[in-house]
Amino acid sequence: MEYISTRNKNLNYNFKEIFLRGLAPDGGLFIPKKIKTFNKSEIEGLSQLTYTDLAAEIISLFCSPDIDKNNLKKLIKKSYQSFITEEVVKIKKVGDVNLVELYHGPTLAFKDIAMQVLGNLYDELKIASAKAVNVVVATSGDTGSAAIAALNDRKNINVFVLHPHNKISKMQRKIMTTIGSNNIYNLAVKGTFDDCQKLVKEMFSENNFREKINMSGVNSINWARIVCQIVYYFYSAFKFKNKKIIFSVPTGNFGDIYAGYVAKKMGLPIEKLIVATNENDILERVINFGEYKPSKVKPSLSPSMDVQISSNFERLLFDVLNHDDKKVSNLMSKLLSEGSFKLNKEQIKTIKKDFFANKVTDKETLKIIKTFSEKYNFLIDPHTATAVGAAKNVKGDFEILILGTAHPYKFLETIKMATNEEVKMPKQMRGILDKKEKYDILENNTSDVKNYILGKLS
Ligand SMILES: *Cc1c(COP(=O)(O)O)cnc(C)c1O
Repeated sequence: MEYISTRNKNLNYNFKEIFLRGLAPDGGLFIPKKIKTFNKSEIEGLSQLTYTDLAAEIISLFCSPDIDKNNLKKLIKKSYQSFITEEVVKIKKVGDVNLVELYHGPTLAFKDIAMQVLGNLYDELKIASAKAVNVVVATSGDTGSAAIAALNDRKNINVFVLHPHNKISKMQRKIMTTIGSNNIYNLAVKGTFDDCQKLVKEMFSENNFREKINMSGVNSINWARIVCQIVYYFYSAFKFKNKKIIFSVPTGNFGDIYAGYVAKKMGLPIEKLIVATNENDILERVINFGEYKPSKVKPSLSPSMDVQISSNFERLLFDVLNHDDKKVSNLMSKLLSEGSFKLNKEQIKTIKKDFFANKVTDKETLKIIKTFSEKYNFLIDPHTATAVGAAKNVKGDFEILILGTAHPYKFLETIKMATNEEVKMPKQMRGILDKKEKYDILENNTSDVKNYILGKLS
């Protein structure tokens, strides 16, 4: 498959290149030149497959010819061995809600589903065989631990994870800073997730630095992550055949929900995708009113969604602007110079054909967690709760599928606050409480971070 950038569709890249780089050289995001659409009988065929076979079918479309399909199949099977369920995800009926539990991997969040595959892709594509690779990644709490679990102890790979100091849950931090060995470095940056993301983007766009350290990225802008996430939209929708399906998705960087949008483009019948945000509501504002204007990040009970610069939204813009790369570039320059851009009525209408957006406050989030506990004796994490809240006014002859993005154990303090209940420790976490945390605190400053990395490599 050939790839282009959202800001320049004349240059072509292969899968290996886009996997390694993450971000296009012009600052844009990589997207496929053309996406395959399945016909009805192909969809029917796919619906018979196990999770891992389905994953191989879908993912191979995006990484051929760089990866052989049989090798990919083995790689995927291996990747999901660390999950507590062979089918990777669990789908449950809780009250009147269909919950798609995506959090049964090694670090208890949906990010494991893509990251475990990415870890093995580094080996398969022989990315670190000639020269050591340094993966630099910003996290709002869950990507970091998922990346560490996926890349721990891999030969010739170091991982530098930037998280916003004191702005993630204790258990998120604990997991992230205890599971890594000598090739893993945790940096607590005195700033927000957006600051961390900006630092990483800056380092990527400095050619000298990027080449010097052979830098690679696994942030949610990495197309390979999106590809792995497309799979569970198909898999879970297949459990509700002949029903009208709506997905409600807790959203931050617009990666997960964008994967749902791609699934829809590939022919999976999805009526609508609900963008659930917390009080960091930039996506809710742009979808409902057309103005994309990042404001200051407000720390919330769902910290993995505390994002104001929602990077993957640029991929949707490319479609909304009829694949006009110049227009995408112009809007992005405008965002940089003026701090915002506006979409017109037609463009908002186009987005609303596929999406519906709703904001859920912390107060509502707590109430939803409490209600679930009291009514159904079932604990959900604060991110998942926003997806429940965002879907509550959607009425009609639909099956609403809520994406459960994190295990409640990762946010046990919030659960305790909402319900006064303790969350039972899942078996992936055994022994974690006794482990010593390892991280360094840094100023929110590119040269400090660069010097830190160079210091560790010398
Ligand atoms: C990362 C994350 C999200 C947001 O996903 P995006 O792809 O950034 O929109 C939601 N919930 C949890 C638990 C997460 O870790």
